[in-house]
Amino acid sequence: MYVGGRFVGTDNAETRELFDPATGRAFGRVVEPQPSDLRAAVRVARKVFDESEWPWLSARERANLLLRIATKVEELGETFARLETLQTGKPLRESRLDVEDCVQCFRYYAGLIMQPNGMLLSVPESVHSYTFRQPIGVCGLIVPWNFPLLIACWKLAPALATGNTCILKPSEWTPVTALLLAKVLDEAGLPPGVVNVVPGAGDPIGRALVEDPDVNRVSFTGGTATGLNILQAAALNITRVSLELGGKSAVIVFEDADWECAVDHALFAIYYGAGQVCAAGSRLLLESTIHDRFLSELKTRAEHIRVGDGFDESVEMGPLVSEAHMRRVLQFIDKGREEGAQLVTGGKRATFPPPLAQGYFMQPTIFAGVTSDMSIVREEIFGPVLTVQPFVNEEDAVRMANDSQYGLAAGVFTRDVARVHRVVRRLQAGITWVNTYHTAYVEAPWGGLKRSGVGRELGIEAVHEYTEIRQVQISTVYAKSGFYPA
Ligand code: NDP
Repeated sequence: MYVGGRFVGTDNAETRELFDPATGRAFGRVVEPQPSDLRAAVRVARKVFDESEWPWLSARERANLLLRIATKVEELGETFARLETLQTGKPLRESRLDVEDCVQCFRYYAGLIMQPNGMLLSVPESVHSYTFRQPIGVCGLIVPWNFPLLIACWKLAPALATGNTCILKPSEWTPVTALLLAKVLDEAGLPPGVVNVVPGAGDPIGRALVEDPDVNRVSFTGGTATGLNILQAAALNITRVSLELGGKSAVIVFEDADWECAVDHALFAIYYGAGQVCAAGSRLLLESTIHDRFLSELKTRAEHIRVGDGFDESVEMGPLVSEAHMRRVLQFIDKGREEGAQLVTGGKRATFPPPLAQGYFMQPTIFAGVTSDMSIVREEIFGPVLTVQPFVNEEDAVRMANDSQYGLAAGVFTRDVARVHRVVRRLQAGITWVNTYHTAYVEAPWGGLKRSGVGRELGIEAVHEYTEIRQVQISTVYAKSGFYPA
């Protein structure tokens, strides 16, 4: 663990073994902290927030610190990328993109925090009234296993830019890059105790973090079921919460779409990250006039995707994160078959060439002939499994896209500009991509509608998430209220 500016152990003798999902081999061990360790870390973060200079540093000082962090992450970029690939299995090219985005994220918030903090309000002449923002306090940052480094940086950069102290809890499966990041923060000169990294299981460690009355804000990314638990636990202390949860995002392709662009992005939307991406475009909606031809080309292209060990530079799709998760995805596939969906391609573990049988690889999978009530269409699978459905017109497409408990992302492929505007407005999605997919800019707010979550990451919105707004009214005259005359 990294607590109070030092790497420390725990009294708990148990440790957790970490596995490379590409080979199934154990590659290391990490401490298994206890709730008492978490409590001690929160106390440190509380004390630093309440008693140190950290929250009162000038924006310029914090910006300089963030720029130093960005440079250090950049310098260690290849090490971060290789460790990320080791613990998640994602291809190196994906890990490298994640690291680049982390660097951008720290630089962006270094710039953003130098902007004016507050507003002068247009109230009557006799009052000088203004707003300003201040840090919230101790932030509990709970990060999943699909983007362990990137999501940690999405949360840490705005939290630090605005002067909070943090407890970062990585997923029990993927704590390695978060611990290296702690070293980088330390070397960049972050005061001890401002960021503390406590690995460990969601329950009890994540739960203890959410329930701790000294934690003022929780920022969580993960599954909707866990998000619901967190919301309930946070309610007891009225802890501020933001939740970035699951999705079942639709990609709509109209007949007039640029063919190559649409086919390419339909594949990218679902198979990037082996489908273990909250915004994965897992429901493909095709205008009925192009359905058969598009599906046939998609099948051929999906069967050509190179599945393998992320350390092989030619690999295009890595393994799933763990055996347990792979089994969960395979169960969805079985259920799809039982419910009568037509398996177009894939549907099994990928075991060829032979070394793949040791890891948690899956074939890129496509189901057609599905109906909107099937579980593979309704539930987040979080694997390389695509469902394909035809639609007859624009209205039909929008209705089908919105027919989901989730509202994270959507994709639209068409050359008709007027239609783009009509469709985008009616889609229920926090993020809509048109003629592209999966691009995420640190400048743009990230988050979902409906059961995809509450609040936003990134952009100026994240500054608002990690600050409280205050208002001040200063009378410029010594006037009486007039309510209680002498
Ligand atoms: P979780 O939502 O359980 O995990 C996300 C993070 O929350 C992890 O750090 C986890 O710790 C922690 N956590 C788990 N339980 C609690 C709790 N009670 N209180 C506080 N923190 C907790 O995801 P799973 O790994 O279980 O994946 C299940 C499904 O969730 C996936 O199949 C996918 O559908 C979805 N998911 C969505 C993600 C997204 O980006 N939106 C990311 C990951 C999953 P630990 O890992 O140590 O248990």
